[in-house]
Amino acid sequence: MSYNFHNFFLLLVGALAFSSLQVKSNPLEFNYEGKSQDFPSSYLNINKIESDYQKTYKKLFQSLSVPELDHCKIEVQFKILNGYWGSVETEKSIQSKTINDCSYEIKIDEQLIDKMEGQLVLIHELVHIIRHHFNPLEERWLDEGLAQLIETEYIALWPYDKQTQLFSQEKLFLSSHDEDYSPKGRGYSSSYFFLKYMYNHFGGLHLVKKLLTSQKTGWSNIQESLKQLSEQGKLQIPKIFFSKEMIWTHFSFAIFFNDSAKADYGLFLLDYKFKNDTEKKSPLINGEKRITSNTEMETFYLPLNKVNKQMLAEIDFNKFSVYLLNSSSSFNIVKADSSMKLIRALNQFEYAVLVKKL
Ligand SMILES: [Zn+2]
Repeated sequence: MSYNFHNFFLLLVGALAFSSLQVKSNPLEFNYEGKSQDFPSSYLNINKIESDYQKTYKKLFQSLSVPELDHCKIEVQFKILNGYWGSVETEKSIQSKTINDCSYEIKIDEQLIDKMEGQLVLIHELVHIIRHHFNPLEERWLDEGLAQLIETEYIALWPYDKQTQLFSQEKLFLSSHDEDYSPKGRGYSSSYFFLKYMYNHFGGLHLVKKLLTSQKTGWSNIQESLKQLSEQGKLQIPKIFFSKEMIWTHFSFAIFFNDSAKADYGLFLLDYKFKNDTEKKSPLINGEKRITSNTEMETFYLPLNKVNKQMLAEIDFNKFSVYLLNSSSSFNIVKADSSMKLIRALNQFEYAVLVKKL
């Protein structure tokens, strides 16, 4: 009988309020004509915007070096939006769409009209438009991850709101369900941190450009993009690390060590030292567990001082790759391939990390 880890782990379903865009910086003063009184409903042909919004658009496309969408009709409206800051609607007839046939409608909450956050929402929605332009069927986790990553890199500020989300979730997952991206959805922080990890370690802007313009979607997009970067000499990482399982395993370790309350970082991690500026204790410090998962892959972290030998003996090594971690001794990671080895290591390691095999 193999132990059912799903039952062992009580998932804490943390209600994540859609984070406020807390940008800790002075709001920008915009110069566009008319200002609030000419809004909230304004049709903006992207060629004709004479404001900082136009500059935002230009700067974004230049920094990404993706083809500009000057020929597209991009309508921006400022409206009262209930509970979310922005949205984008792609034209309906996706199937019949050609590369020159593009029309999009961006809605931004009118509260943000003369604030820097309005620019960020614009960037976020423009990234969706770029992605949808090349493939409107992109999976939601990748689509949202890209939009959040670029928005965050653009302002070069650490996203405290996403860190707080990460901290409050025990389960990180890549989801394509719409409800996970509702105003209170839990999908955003996982998507963001996964893309941030990929960006930091697998080619930076080169990777972003590939992902944005690819004809493929989801994991196929990621793998094809990595393959191309490698062939073009832009990525020096051995191809063995490009498998879904490898990427997920390393990302899981990164999340583990970057637990926002532990405030650690290391070699293949997120490369940012989290500020432990919250009173809360880490779920891991409390001896609980954290899970990362997506549809087929799941990672379980077992604090070894909380589990018994019986439980370890029941781990199915055909189903899981098992790693032993000791965060205090230079991130020592050892692969265990039998229950015997695992039980013997009980006193030398703090955590067992189980990565479900594909
Ligand atoms: Zn979005």
